[in-house]
Formats: sequence, structure tokens, C-alpha cells
Amino acid sequence: MSESAVWHPFTQHGLQHAIPEVIGAEGAVLHTRSGAKVIDAISSWWVTTHGHAHPKIAAAIAEQAHKLDQIIFAGWTHEPAERLAAGLRARMPASLTRVFFSDSGSTSVEVALKMALGYWLHRGEDRHRIAVMDHGYHGDTIGTMSVGARGAFNRAYEPLLFDVTSIPFPAAGHEQATFDALERVCREGAAAFIVEPLVLGAGGMLFYRADTLAEMHRICQRYDTLFIADEVMTGWGRTGALLACEQADIAPDILCLSKGITGGAIPLAVTMASEPIFAAHYSTDRAQMFFHSSSYTANPIACAAANANLAIWDEEPVIERIAALGERQERYLRRTAAHPLVRNPRRLGTIAAFEVGDAEGYLSDLAPQMLAMFRERNVLLRPLGNTVYVMPPYCITDDELGAVYDAVSEVLDCIAG
Ligand SMILES: *Cc1c(COP(=O)(O)O)cnc(C)c1O
Repeated sequence: MSESAVWHPFTQHGLQHAIPEVIGAEGAVLHTRSGAKVIDAISSWWVTTHGHAHPKIAAAIAEQAHKLDQIIFAGWTHEPAERLAAGLRARMPASLTRVFFSDSGSTSVEVALKMALGYWLHRGEDRHRIAVMDHGYHGDTIGTMSVGARGAFNRAYEPLLFDVTSIPFPAAGHEQATFDALERVCREGAAAFIVEPLVLGAGGMLFYRADTLAEMHRICQRYDTLFIADEVMTGWGRTGALLACEQADIAPDILCLSKGITGGAIPLAVTMASEPIFAAHYSTDRAQMFFHSSSYTANPIACAAANANLAIWDEEPVIERIAALGERQERYLRRTAAHPLVRNPRRLGTIAAFEVGDAEGYLSDLAPQMLAMFRERNVLLRPLGNTVYVMPPYCITDDELGAVYDAVSEVLDCIAG
């Protein structure tokens, strides 16, 4: 047992030996206590977009911390939150007129589900079933686990998870089964359908087509089932556009954003809602208000970081940078795909992924083995089971990305023996 009192997330302390200590980071590089420079090829778990310690975001945080650090947000407001809400409204689909703040992707999803249920209650309709997609992931709280895939991660909590209807993942060529299942649950009066647009992240970097996303949206609209887009991972450029929904030309009824909203510097999340959802809670009756808050709702320092992120999107060629990173990823992925162990190489925007060998589950021994081999090579990659994915910050240099794929090739050769 280690001396440290820290209990780490998604870590089996009985197997984990030395846990590296990071003392600084800039761009795509982490500096460890032992003097190593490690390339962060997963954007510190999908959050870092423009790179670590971006000077504009760091300055905005410092400046705001001296001005106004925290204020109750029930019945009070402040400039950073107002500016951010206006900025989001201007950038996100026009029908998303309302911005509700929280602090993590999981809470933004909890808020989305509660908004959807409140909407139907206040309209006097008994609709409360939630439709979800197989292999989906929406967070680790009881509510978000309920709408996510069930497995070893949530076996202990399963008796308390609420019942949902899951539709099949729209694997290429099998989309009709997904549409049929979605149509069935919508026809039976589902309150809402929650989905990760274009990419199921934690489910194994599973990609599906934009026209499939558009058709699922059409089906929901036909039956007034609210469409909740969980863009916690896919938002802020990951799939090549600001939002994955943009690529299908759809506007969800509810949109969840977090991770890259502050450039990945500090926790913040928003749930954006269309006007009818806000209107259903609008009344002179206090019993009809939206009953949700957390202590740090719309924390001014976090909002200032998010405003700096929006400024970076305005002032720097972010979309061009993302497109160029996508092309570089494609070139390296093609080279890697020639390895006999690589299965199903695929890329969407800045995300490249493939499987190693034949299908194994999340808990297969391959993942920790590969993680350790990447760590020895000073590359932070954290495979999901036998799925290896590369999702770097947009600022990663050619040399750094080349070093990541060199490590990938070496690790594949080691596994092949
Ligand atoms: C990461 C993630 C979440 C949960 O976000 P947290 O900030 O970790 O709570 C929810 N949905 C998706 C799609 C995610 O990738």
C-alpha cells in the first residue's frame, strides 16, 4: 500500500504501483516530478483543447480570481456568466435560447434529464421513459449511469438504477434496426432520447454517420420526444466542427456541454434548452420552478475561463488547426493500419482509433499492459479495452504527434512479439 492518502478514480490500487506526479504542463506536454516530458495524447481525458496552460485562459482565471471569486447564483448574477450565456447563445443552434450552468459533464446530463421530465410534468402529460443507445456513456452518477451502458462499472449500483429503453448502436449497414427501435419507443411516448452525437466515446470510440444522427432526430421530432445531445466530449471541435450536431445539421432540444468549454482548464458545464422547455417551467407558481442547483453554479472564475475559450475561438484559427490535425492524424493512422494487429482503423475530426487484435472487453489485460508500455515511452495513451485512440490537444506539434505514433508502432510490435 502506498503512503498517499489519495484514492484515485478508475484505478485499482491493488495493481497500480508507482503513480507519476505531474508538476507542470504546457501545450501538449506534461512535466513529471522525475523530470520526464510526457506527451498528452488523450487531452487529459478529453478536456484540453487548445493545450495546457494557455496564456489567455490562465490570465483570465487570475484576473477574475482577484475581482469576484464566487457568488450564489440563485437570484444573483454576474458579468462573466451573462457574457458567457450570450456568447453561447450566439454560437450554438439558434433554437437553444436558455443556458443553465453546472460543474461537470455528469451534472449537465442530470440537469438535462430533470429538465425533460419537468417539461412533461408541467405540460400535464405522463411521459417519463428515457430512450438511450447501447454502449452510451453519460457520466458516473446514479442518474447518468442509469442512461448509460450497464457493465462491470456499475454492477454494485445496478439495483438502484432507473429503467430505460436502449436501442441498438447504428453499426454501418444496420442503421434500420436502430431507427425501428427508436420509432417504437418514441411511439410509446418516450419523454426524451439521449445520445452522444457521432461518437460514443467511453463505449469504445464508436463512430456513426451524420445522416443517421439526422434521421434519429427526425424520428424524435415526429413523436415530440425531446432530443438530448450529450456533446460533453464531442463539443468544441473534437469531431471537426464546433458541435457534432452541426455535421448533421440538427438542433437538439437540450444540449450538454462541458470538458472543452473552458479549454479544459477548470470545471464548468452548461445545459442549453429550447424556449418551450424554459417556458414549461415559467410561472408565478414557485412549485413549478426548476429545482436544481449546486454550490458553485456558474462560478465566476470558471465562466471567465470559458469566455477566454470563446475569445480563442474568435481570435485564433481554431477550425483550421483542427482540420490540419485531422489530416495529420489520417496520415499516421494509415501508416499504423498496415500493422497486422490493427483492426478497424477509423478517424473522425481530431479523433483516431483502432482495435488491437480480436475483440476483448474493457477489463482485458491488454489495456493496462499497453498503458504501461506507453508510459515507459513517455506517451499518455489510455486504451479502452483493446481500443487504442489518439485524441490530442489541437496544438500538438508534428514532432510530438510523430512520437506518439512511433510509440504506438513499438507497442504493437511488442504485443505481436
Ligand atoms: C466525460 C463525459 C461525461 C461526464 O463528464 P464529467 O465531467 O466526467 O462528469 C458525460 N458524457 C460524455 C459523452 C462524456 O464523454
